[in-house]
Amino acid sequence: MSYVFTPPATVAVPVVGQAAQFAVHRIYCVGRNYEEHAKEMGFTGREPPFFFLKPADALVVVNTGETGSMPYPSLTKNLHHEIELVVAIGKGGKNISAAHAFEHIYGYAVGLDMTRRDLQGEMKKLGRPWSIGKGFDHSAPIGPITPAAQAGDVVNAEILLHVNGQERQRSHIHKLIWNIAESIEHLSAAWELQPGDLIFTGTPEGVAAVVSGDVMHGQITGLSELKVKVV
Ligand code: MN
Repeated sequence: MSYVFTPPATVAVPVVGQAAQFAVHRIYCVGRNYEEHAKEMGFTGREPPFFFLKPADALVVVNTGETGSMPYPSLTKNLHHEIELVVAIGKGGKNISAAHAFEHIYGYAVGLDMTRRDLQGEMKKLGRPWSIGKGFDHSAPIGPITPAAQAGDVVNAEILLHVNGQERQRSHIHKLIWNIAESIEHLSAAWELQPGDLIFTGTPEGVAAVVSGDVMHGQITGLSELKVKVV
């Protein structure tokens, strides 16, 4: 096969404890999936889950022990952090029931759903797509994937984010409105999941702005941590 230009390299995330990497297919994100975050965004109650996507090459892949760099994006004056549990799909499928969802999970990672909040807000007001607010270049920093068998009790893990050493977000994965299995059930009813898909499962309360020079430090119990500097 020849191409009219050199095709882009496969986007891949390192896996804890092995040399082989996790090749990324798509990035799905769950919107407003913690009650206290939904409230801080002006919503209440349990609404059906909804999803948006980021391009796979929006990932900023950061290895264990390293501090990654995320360029401050264009057009925004309000870049927000959203710390999230990322579920890595190892076995595809459609119409996956919640009861079978965990069979499709390869592992988990700590991720940041970085958001141009001002642009997202304008798009919401106009009823337009969120892509410019959510799917921009470098909008998805991620740490290494921990295989599910080594990740411990992710369902009950604590999730937290510090910025410059100060706590910004702290919650527990069990507070997800639509839990991991239910999110996979709903998502796989709308799209056929493939090995290599990543699911950003939603952020807890405490989202706020970062500026150039800030260092974000995300942690989820049992998973490899994520450190990213805004540059
Ligand atoms: Mn999010």
